[in-house]
Amino acid sequence: MKITMTLQQYFVSILTGLLLFSLFSVPIFADTVHCDVVVVGGGSAGIVAAVQSARCGAKTILIEAGFQLGGNATTGGVNFPGLFHAWGKQVIAGIGWELVEETVQLNHDLLPDFFVPTGTQHWKHQIRVNLPLYVVLAEELCLKSGVEIRYFESPMEVISLKSSSTNSGTDKENWQLITVSQGEKRTIRCKQMIDCTGNGTLCALAGAERMRENTIQPGTFQYSIRSNMDIAKAETQIADIRKHYEEAQKANLIKPEDFRNGIMAVIKGDNSNYVFGADNSTGILRTETNIRGRQSMLRVLRFLQSLPGGENAKLISMSAEVGVRETWRVKGRYVITADDYRSGKVWADSLAYAFYPIDLHINETGVRPAHLKEGVVATIPFRALLPENIDHLLVAGRCISSDRFANSALRVQATCMSSGQVTGAAAALSALKNIAPAELDIATIKATLKEHNAIVPE
Ligand SMILES: Cc1cc2nc3c(=O)[nH]c(=O)nc-3n(C[C@H](O)[C@H](O)[C@H](O)COP(=O)(O)OP(=O)(O)OC[C@H]3O[C@@H](n4cnc5c(N)ncnc54)[C@H](O)[C@@H]3O)c2cc1C
Repeated sequence: MKITMTLQQYFVSILTGLLLFSLFSVPIFADTVHCDVVVVGGGSAGIVAAVQSARCGAKTILIEAGFQLGGNATTGGVNFPGLFHAWGKQVIAGIGWELVEETVQLNHDLLPDFFVPTGTQHWKHQIRVNLPLYVVLAEELCLKSGVEIRYFESPMEVISLKSSSTNSGTDKENWQLITVSQGEKRTIRCKQMIDCTGNGTLCALAGAERMRENTIQPGTFQYSIRSNMDIAKAETQIADIRKHYEEAQKANLIKPEDFRNGIMAVIKGDNSNYVFGADNSTGILRTETNIRGRQSMLRVLRFLQSLPGGENAKLISMSAEVGVRETWRVKGRYVITADDYRSGKVWADSLAYAFYPIDLHINETGVRPAHLKEGVVATIPFRALLPENIDHLLVAGRCISSDRFANSALRVQATCMSSGQVTGAAAALSALKNIAPAELDIATIKATLKEHNAIVPE
């Protein structure tokens, strides 16, 4: 059959073709970088996720908005990761433990004795690591594993390539990320992404649902002020000091949350404080949070210097950022509840342990940790690391799918690391097989995790 076309029909068909192509294609730029796995956020979860992914043979890029790795553990000054042990045995190991152990050993520091029960003093099993050394070793661990680190960068747009005509063949890439780095726009195409931002920012860009409370837990600004006061003398003058303290509060020179454990504690060197509403999930909120944290420190320093005998009070050290406890959580294919957490439930897809008391900080009343019953260790099901309705995307760390109470325990660093390791393994395995993480066989993920020294619930 002979097909004839007028010149007009010919142009119409070309234009229609071009229109369809532009509708179903995502422009691919000459400088686009291709990889298997992109991890966004280089905190406890992101470091471990990226290293695990690279060690599984996946080409991995780690994007971090800040200037160093560690997130809240370093930039936020919480350099005491925990808890890796429960009831006299280790429950979290793998890559996170490797990093912590190396930092302790290289600096000739000591690990706590994990076989001495802590009772309700769970913090005794946290591990104090030298902060700058931890930063450098985390970076070295990533580089040695083949992770490409990109500091000062952030994704601004995430495009699904599922139905894109510029993406075909067997090595299918599922995502295009447009990132920004100091005014420079960059493009990355990858098969799997892992959200380790602590806030679920990457998931939100990809269209996933997030959850949060109207009033979030307070943050804390880690700093150290030495009062240089004669403590014994101050104790004899406590009535006068209290009077001065109350007057300063009335005059709005200090706030009760600047002195979480009271005035005498601060004089003795306990600088515990709360920064109410601390939120780092947007640039504007993060700016405001940090300004408020730093103002709080200044108030305390000036107040101490106004006390008789406190003239020589001085600032010794200060974290780069305010530590944030709670913002957004990603809604996953399963939401871990406080009841699940407390019961130590083991699901068929449980891939990591988690151990810490439920630790919700409430503005006015402070925190009353609810400890797990003797012998109970919580677990994390894989579905809580998979955002609902979105494939080729995983989430690890503070913002995993959980209710508020469960999250107040799941957010600690050892658990962030264990969820990071699970997502790193799953992202790499699924990238190498060109399938979605949800299609992976749980036994295969478990076997990979064990190969990399993780402890997996059975
Ligand atoms: C005061 C306080 C005390 C705590 N006490 C303990 C304790 O005793 N023991 C313990 O183990 N845990 C403790 N925690 C909890 C713990 O420190 C954090 O929950 C944990 O470190 C979170 O790790 P993460 O990897 O999920 O996120 P983060 O450490 O917050 O890391 C997220 C990283 O992602 C980066 N990022 C964010 N958004 C983007 C973006 N859009 N693009 C690129 N990068 C991005 C950030 O810069 C950051 O580096 C405490 C927390 C606080 C605030």
